[in-house]
Amino acid sequence: MDKSDFPRDKVCGDAIGGRVKRVLDQIDPTLLSEWEAFPRKNISKGWKLVAPNGKEVSVYFSNSGYVATRMDFDHFLFQKASKSDGIETILNDRVSSIRNQGDKIELQTESGKTLCAKMVIGCDGAHSIVAKQLAGFKVNLKDYSGAVRTYYEHISGITDPNLIEIYLLKDYLPGYFWIFPLSPTSANVGFGMLSEDIRKRKLDLKIALKHIIHSNPMLKSRFENAAMKGEIEGFGLPLGGKKRALSGNRFLLCGDAASLIDPLNGEGIGNAMLSGRIAAEHVIRAFQTSDFSANNLHAYDLAVYKKLYPELRKKWWMQKIFNRPWLINRLVNLGISNPGIKDWIGKKL
Ligand SMILES: Cc1cc2nc3c(=O)[nH]c(=O)nc-3n(C[C@H](O)[C@H](O)[C@H](O)COP(=O)(O)OP(=O)(O)OC[C@H]3O[C@@H](n4cnc5c(N)ncnc54)[C@H](O)[C@@H]3O)c2cc1C
Repeated sequence: MDKSDFPRDKVCGDAIGGRVKRVLDQIDPTLLSEWEAFPRKNISKGWKLVAPNGKEVSVYFSNSGYVATRMDFDHFLFQKASKSDGIETILNDRVSSIRNQGDKIELQTESGKTLCAKMVIGCDGAHSIVAKQLAGFKVNLKDYSGAVRTYYEHISGITDPNLIEIYLLKDYLPGYFWIFPLSPTSANVGFGMLSEDIRKRKLDLKIALKHIIHSNPMLKSRFENAAMKGEIEGFGLPLGGKKRALSGNRFLLCGDAASLIDPLNGEGIGNAMLSGRIAAEHVIRAFQTSDFSANNLHAYDLAVYKKLYPELRKKWWMQKIFNRPWLINRLVNLGISNPGIKDWIGKKL
């Protein structure tokens, strides 16, 4: 079920990390080869990190990824899923309420449908109704980010279109500005920050993005002849790093609904897909044993956190530390001269 029809946009940086390739391969190796043959995407081999002092270091990923619009990538996935045996889709209809009746889950939709299910997988993103109404999730601004993005054409100075660019700007820490190239002259351009800091500073992210582009000395000349394509749009990022219940009687949560976004770099697509793959295994098991109890489904939480929690927790701590300009400057300075540190930046951040 989805409130939209596909292809549909999703506000995102469009950086599709290496984990996505591994999950596609695990689900079905032909999925990965078909995605690799998909034409409208740009390979990202690494990233250029620009410190508050303007010094930069370029590091290469051990497993390359892509930059592709979510319009394209999600449509690719949707087509594959919707054509699988036994799949029925309900589109353009928002779930407006969801109730656990003990022996079934009852959903109401905006168009007035009532549906009953033995179990539900909540993959409904950052404002998940499943997480709110079945799991009682509440937003904590300390573990939530806000971000805005738009698209630009005719940007100059993309010296290597296979490197995504991340700028840690002195006046906008903790937070980062990004240029994720889709081609040698076009990119997804955005800015994000921890929601608690946005609130404290009373920051309007759309204004901040324009301000960065038009006034930052490293960036303004690059955007002088650039043209914005579409609007600046924003959305929330529920960050991982603290354990929560990811399941309960007759339901599982995946991706943003389960707050699985990397709290340091804001990547959530790979973790969403990994949790989706693990959820599928647990749904099959629940149907095989006819056991949809919270007790049985708790194995899903254990499996997801076994894979993701150590990494999410480490990044959670790093996010708390890496908001100091002097520390980032020092790290990047060290990375420029020391291949070991540069390698560490590439692998750990
Ligand atoms: C500005 C920004 C930049 C980002 N950049 C990156 C990046 O570069 N790389 C990265 O890996 N991650 C990035 N993220 C995070 C990434 O977008 C998410 O982690 C990812 O989309 C999570 O996938 P999901 O399937 O859980 O949720 P979503 O992709 O949000 O999908 C949820 C789906 O549920 C549907 N839905 C929602 N509510 C209902 C309802 N009530 N009824 C029916 N359907 C519903 C929606 O229409 C949507 O199709 C970014 C996020 C933001 C906001």
